[in-house]
Amino acid sequence: MDFDHTPEQSQLRDAVASLGTRYGHSYYVERAKAGAHTDELWVEAAKLGYLGVSVPAEYGGGGAGITELAIVTEELAATGCPLLLLVVSPAIVATIVAKHGTPAQRDAYLPGFAEGTLKACFAITEPDAGSNFHNLATVARRDGDGYVLTGRKVYISGADETSYVLVVARMADERTGRLQPALFMVPCDAPGLTYSKIDMEIVSPENQFMLFLDEVRVPAGALIGESAEAGLPALFTGLNPERITVAAMSIGTARYALSRASAYTATRSVWGRPIGSHQGVAHPLAHAAIQVELARLMVAKAASLYDLGRDVEAGVAANMAKYAAAEAAYLAVDTAIQAHGGNGMTTEYGVATLMGGVRAGRIAPVSREMILNFVSQHVLGQQKSY
Ligand SMILES: Cc1cc2nc3c(=O)[nH]c(=O)nc-3n(C[C@H](O)[C@H](O)[C@H](O)COP(=O)(O)OP(=O)(O)OC[C@H]3O[C@@H](n4cnc5c(N)ncnc54)[C@H](O)[C@@H]3O)c2cc1C
Repeated sequence: MDFDHTPEQSQLRDAVASLGTRYGHSYYVERAKAGAHTDELWVEAAKLGYLGVSVPAEYGGGGAGITELAIVTEELAATGCPLLLLVVSPAIVATIVAKHGTPAQRDAYLPGFAEGTLKACFAITEPDAGSNFHNLATVARRDGDGYVLTGRKVYISGADETSYVLVVARMADERTGRLQPALFMVPCDAPGLTYSKIDMEIVSPENQFMLFLDEVRVPAGALIGESAEAGLPALFTGLNPERITVAAMSIGTARYALSRASAYTATRSVWGRPIGSHQGVAHPLAHAAIQVELARLMVAKAASLYDLGRDVEAGVAANMAKYAAAEAAYLAVDTAIQAHGGNGMTTEYGVATLMGGVRAGRIAPVSREMILNFVSQHVLGQQKSY
C-alpha cells in the first residue's frame, strides 16, 4: 500500500493549485453573481491539458486516469473554484464516449474533450422518475435512418454552456420490444431541444436547467455504441467517474473552507488571544479535518480501483467515497462558518457562499439515502427495501 502520489501526480496537483489560486473564490463568486461563467479559468485549464488529462493519449489527451481527473477537480475546488462541469463533461461524457463510443464517435468527440474545447452536459434525471431511473419516460424511436427523442429532463447542469447533451432515453429492443436505456449525443442547438433555467439557492457560475425534447431528430450515429444494447453498460461506466470526481470536488471545497477557518481563528482575537486557542472553536475544526482526510483516502482508493479496472470494487468504493465526502464537506463548511461568527455569513469571508453547493452534494448526483440503500444491499446483504 503506497500513500504517495507519483511525481507526475504531485506536479499536476501543484500546477492545478497554482492555476486555481490565480483565480480564487472571489472570482468564482463574482462570476456566479454576475450570471456569468468561468470561461477564462476553463480555457486556461484546457490549454494546460488539465481538462483532457483522462482522455486517451491517441486522441490528444493526457492518457492518465480518473485519479488524475480527481486531482484536477479537488485542487481547483481547494482554491475556491469547484467546477461541476468537470464532473459532467470529462468525467461522465468523455469517459462514456472513450469506453463505449464507436470509432467514429471517438474520432468525432475525443479530440475536443482532450483539448477542453468540447463541453457536454449529461441528462438522466426526470421530474417523474427521480432517483428511480427505471421510470425514465424520455423515449427514443427509430425513424428512417435516425432516431427521434421526446421527453423532459430536470436539473441538467451546464445546458447553456455546452455544445452537446448526452441524453439517457429508453428505446424498445428490436427483438423483444422491451424498453431499455439508450444514450444519445444530441447537439444542444438541435431543433426541438429547448431548456429553461431553474432558480437554485446555490452560489455557482454553473446553472441547472429543465430540458425539453420535442421530437428531436438525431442521425443514427448519435446513438452511443454499436447498438441499443450498449446503453446500460455505457450508463454504468459513467457513474463511478461521476461519483469519484464529485467526491473530489467536495473534498476540495472542504479543504478550502477549513483553510479559511484556520487562518481566521489563528488571528481573530476577542478574549486577548486567538479564538483558535479555545478548544470549543478548534476541536470542531479538527474533527472536520479528520472526517475530510478519511473521505479523501476513500476517494483515492475508489479512483485507484477504477483505474485498475476493478469495476465492482470501484463501484462500492465510489459510493462510499461520495457519501463520506459529501458529509465531510457539509460538516467542514458549516463548522468553518461557525468559527467565523458573524463574518461567516458575509460574502467577503467566502465561506457561506459554499453552503448551497455542499448541501447539494448530499443530494446529487446520487442522494445519501440511495447510497445507504446500495451499501445495505450490496455490502451488508440486506433485502432491497424499495
Ligand atoms: C445542483 C444539482 C445538479 C444536478 N445536475 C444534474 C445533471 O447535470 N444531470 C442530471 O441528470 N441530474 C442532475 N441533478 C439531479 C440529481 O441527480 C437528482 O436531484 C438526484 O438524483 C435525486 O433525484 P430527485 O431530485 O428526483 O429526488 P427524489 O428521487 O425525488 O428523492 C427525494 C428524496 O427521497 C429520497 N428517496 C427516494 N427514493 C428513496 C428510497 N428508495 N429510499 C430512501 N430514500 C429515498 C431521496 O434520497 C431524496 O432525499 C442535479 C441536482 C442538483 C441538486
